[in-house]
Amino acid sequence: MAKSDYNAYENAQAQFDKVAEYLKLDSGMREFLRQPMKELHFTIPVKMDNGTTKVFKAYRSRHNDARGPAKGGLRFHPDETADDVRALSMWMTWKCATVDIPLGGGKGGIVCDPRTMSLAEQERMCRGYVRGLFKEVGPNSDVPAPDVMSNNQHMLWMLDEYETIAGARYPGMITGKPVGMGGSLGRTEATGYGVIYTLKAYAAAEKINLAKTTASIQGFGNVAEYAARMYSELGGTIKCVSCWDAADNKAYTFKKEDGCNIAELVSIKDTFGSIDKTKAQKLGYQIIDGDAWLKEEVDILIPSALGNQITPKNVADISKKVKIICEGANGPTTPDADPLLQKRGIFMIPDFLCNAGGVTCSYFEQVQCNMNYFWDKQEVLNKLEYAMTKAFTAVHELAKEKKLYMRDAAYVIAINRVAEAVKKRGWV
Ligand code: NAD
Repeated sequence: MAKSDYNAYENAQAQFDKVAEYLKLDSGMREFLRQPMKELHFTIPVKMDNGTTKVFKAYRSRHNDARGPAKGGLRFHPDETADDVRALSMWMTWKCATVDIPLGGGKGGIVCDPRTMSLAEQERMCRGYVRGLFKEVGPNSDVPAPDVMSNNQHMLWMLDEYETIAGARYPGMITGKPVGMGGSLGRTEATGYGVIYTLKAYAAAEKINLAKTTASIQGFGNVAEYAARMYSELGGTIKCVSCWDAADNKAYTFKKEDGCNIAELVSIKDTFGSIDKTKAQKLGYQIIDGDAWLKEEVDILIPSALGNQITPKNVADISKKVKIICEGANGPTTPDADPLLQKRGIFMIPDFLCNAGGVTCSYFEQVQCNMNYFWDKQEVLNKLEYAMTKAFTAVHELAKEKKLYMRDAAYVIAINRVAEAVKKRGWV
């Protein structure tokens, strides 16, 4: 999505190829798992408020559904590409397998900038996406959810369009719906909290007192905000957060040496996760370069914005103090940066384990929709923490036992589970 020298799909394939070789997967299975099973490219003509028609490019990729219906978010971004969507659908397969939920991997994207569109235009675009995909999505085939710049209102419009065409109610067709309209309590918090549940599990295993640690976060959207909230609740200090400023077309880092007040920063951010600079300055925040979050002298880095942010070009900028990276975003570290981080002894909690809380809670949302009975928030969060801790522990123990990098250990577990399902179905 972000313009960069790296291609997310090539990254996802390089990561897969490395572990496929380690596992000695046969060539048919490798060929099958290193690309999506199915993908759709289409256009959505939208009548804009000024009377013109704008045509948006849209994608949906189904990487693998051997373990269950495909599941994956839908991104709205002006730089979205087919390769991004392919990569993200692939990571979704591994994510669902790592947390052991009965779902496969899917992903969607629309090349658009909702920040510049009215709500009515966004609604028409969402409904157009469902009309273009009607036969390909559904509770038993492929289930979309919110992702970058898409939200629960978008999901509800899409559900409404689907149900209008289908002539019946299918609340399990999409997740991330508003609470009271088929959504699950805890879904808003789930990805960010999940990031910190994995960190908490690591801290417990290694006897690290999180209250004595410091962190720096890239992003201040859904994932970053709730990761920041939970980490602060555990007593950790967030020295800075960075986010995008649409007006200036660049990122800034907001810093307070003695720790950011997360509730205060949330109160001055917009719905796209951008912090108001003037208000932040009045509250005493230093506003510095967008890349500064990576160079901070902290114990933990939590990249929670975009892909391809940690590369061989900037690994040397990471402070010697950093001991842990929690990947809240999808694909924030490029495959060529991984060996450098590993050499430095930085403990990696890889994206498709670290940020799996969102899809795990989406799965809970579907389960509740199917029962038409909804749990209270604490029940959802307890189940979420249990699932994330269990998944983290399995990966961590395998990594220690086989002396594997955490990302590779997660891949070993995920690929084995998916390959087994593919084999049992007799596909390969
Ligand atoms: P979001 O749209 O709510 O927030 C994105 C944040 O990133 C915003 O604060 C934005 O200002 C910031 N940002 C954008 N460009 C930036 C840049 N160049 N430098 C610094 N900050 C920048 O998105 P989100 O839902 O929080 O998702 C963030 C990441 O987490 C994505 O990679 C997404 O795929 C991944 N993810 C999200 C979920 C979820 O449930 N929302 C689940 C799993 C993974």
